[in-house]
Amino acid sequence: MSTVDIKPEYKPEGVEGAGFFATSLDKVVGLARANSLWPLPFATSCCGIEFMATMASHYDLSRFGSERLSFSPRQADLLMVMGTISKKLAPVLRQVYEQMAEPKWVLSMGACASSGGIFDTYSVLQGIDRVIPVDVYIPGCPPRPEQVLDGILRIQELSKNESLRMRNSPEYKAKLALYGIE
Ligand code: SF4
Repeated sequence: MSTVDIKPEYKPEGVEGAGFFATSLDKVVGLARANSLWPLPFATSCCGIEFMATMASHYDLSRFGSERLSFSPRQADLLMVMGTISKKLAPVLRQVYEQMAEPKWVLSMGACASSGGIFDTYSVLQGIDRVIPVDVYIPGCPPRPEQVLDGILRIQELSKNESLRMRNSPEYKAKLALYGIE
């Protein structure tokens, strides 16, 4: 009979012994959150194509537990904004963000989403952080899939190390208040 020796790549700090493992609830919840992010791809232009490459078999975002895309904000915890966001679209983006349940994270992919990119015009939002808070920015025009993977890994680090009380903290509420979000 063959035995399979499974070694998890990461496990939270804890106390180990034969037949038991003790750690803190924060760390277990962080581990679960980080490895089951459900992205909502808010893609408006070319960066979205690069994201499609990231999802496909060669780069395979599934390896990081994020293959389950959600096109409903109610079933997503990672908002990925990719592409040019016009000022007319900004209220829609904000509504999508507000409809997502906590905990949630925001990834701004590419120059357009992060700063308006080359479109320094009257109609283009000069960075989505003017309407919603952003956790991680990915530079580039367009960023390569490796950069998208790196961005996801950074979101994983944030979610893995976040305290369970963070979302109720005065600091977090103050950050949302800057955007007029309660
Ligand atoms: S950053 Fe570049 S590749 Fe991405 S949406 Fe803007 S123009 Fe397109």
